[in-house]
Amino acid sequence: MNTEYDIIVVGAGPAGSTAARYAAAGGARVLMLEKDRDVGYPVRCGEAVSHEGVVQFIQPDPRWIAATVTKFRFVAPSGKSVVPKLDGGGYVLERRLFDYELAKLAAAEGAEVVTKAYVYDLLRENGAVTGVRALIKDKPAEIRARIVVAADGVESRIGKMAGIDTTCHIRDMESCAQMTLSGIDVDDDVLEFYFGGDYAPGGYLWVFPKGNRSANVGLGLSVEEAKKKSAIRFLQEFVAKKYPGAAMLTHIAGGVPCATTCDRIVKGNVILVGDAAHQVNPMSGGGIISGMIGGMIGGQTAAEALKSGDLRHLEEYQKRWQKRLGWRHDVFYSMKEAVSHFDDATYDAICDSALKLPEEKRTLGGIFRSALWNQPSLVLDVAKVFIS
Ligand SMILES: Cc1cc2nc3c(=O)[nH]c(=O)nc-3n(C[C@H](O)[C@H](O)[C@H](O)COP(=O)(O)OP(=O)(O)OC[C@H]3O[C@@H](n4cnc5c(N)ncnc54)[C@H](O)[C@@H]3O)c2cc1C
Repeated sequence: MNTEYDIIVVGAGPAGSTAARYAAAGGARVLMLEKDRDVGYPVRCGEAVSHEGVVQFIQPDPRWIAATVTKFRFVAPSGKSVVPKLDGGGYVLERRLFDYELAKLAAAEGAEVVTKAYVYDLLRENGAVTGVRALIKDKPAEIRARIVVAADGVESRIGKMAGIDTTCHIRDMESCAQMTLSGIDVDDDVLEFYFGGDYAPGGYLWVFPKGNRSANVGLGLSVEEAKKKSAIRFLQEFVAKKYPGAAMLTHIAGGVPCATTCDRIVKGNVILVGDAAHQVNPMSGGGIISGMIGGMIGGQTAAEALKSGDLRHLEEYQKRWQKRLGWRHDVFYSMKEAVSHFDDATYDAICDSALKLPEEKRTLGGIFRSALWNQPSLVLDVAKVFIS
């Protein structure tokens, strides 16, 4: 490891590895620092991604795919369910191996990857960021760089250190609990979503198959709801009832910033990518692919800025992100606001109207249209999304 690089990426999650990969491919000398001993571990994720999202970056490989999914099951509070097709299909990943693979792609482009490397401060000269202070394998080190990429996840501190406001309002922070269960009966090609106050008020509970009679089971609800009853209690109750006798292989809690992107994701020569920038889809809580898209745009723009010799070019990253996905997340955020107020009766009505549809029309779009048609009050909720 050297003491000077063009770019230091802090954090080797999907966003960091993708930023490192595209920055290195653009000709930059890149160092990626990861605080944990292993890239990709521990896993704090439902691990579901769309086929369309993945293939933008990497060819699907059975080594890191636990299950290929083609349908989803929408379970209403009444217990009735509908199973529409999943347009384009998707995967439940082995995140541990997937993240590892993404880091290898960054290394293949020439990025250096160092684990057990905790960044605890930024170096500064005359007010400008000139690198990072880190504990590398427990030894203090100062490493200089012309650009720092903060890819340090939902608990990001690097952005704040650089003077960027990364606060996520408590009402937008989803509190999640997740388990990997084994010895249970699940459909291997179906993503299951449970809605309603008994499962996850204002959020949803998921059962994502992982093959071999195992599944990633979890839920997310707003921190405000979690104050009344915690995510882990909701999950334990569901598992005890639905899968008594299941073996619990992993068990973890975490947070997802279901907000719009931070107002600023560039400041001077520091940029934020992934969860650190709140690049999560605020409606679904999915942030793997969107974080990788943020990482790709950030990494490419950083390499261009170095080539041009004018780091003000980094401002392009903010504009490109907004044009590519940021604007959609703004719309999804408004939709989330409407959906989070749905009560059990509304979910039941959506399910009932979907069940009336002929099977070939049971797609997400078909269900949405039918729900609007049969539930005029929903039109008002959705209208609010577009006029707010
Ligand atoms: C319970 C749960 C379920 C989820 N389910 C899904 C899902 O099904 N599908 C989906 O698309 N998304 C899901 N998400 C969201 C998804 O996990 C995140 O959006 C995604 O991991 C973000 O990637 P990232 O690279 O920005 O951050 P992370 O994956 O969090 O990576 C950040 C990395 O930075 C490292 N780091 C942090 N601080 C430092 C430091 N100071 N120095 C060095 N390294 C540091 C961390 O160790 C970590 O490896 C879920 C999230 C949770 C919590």
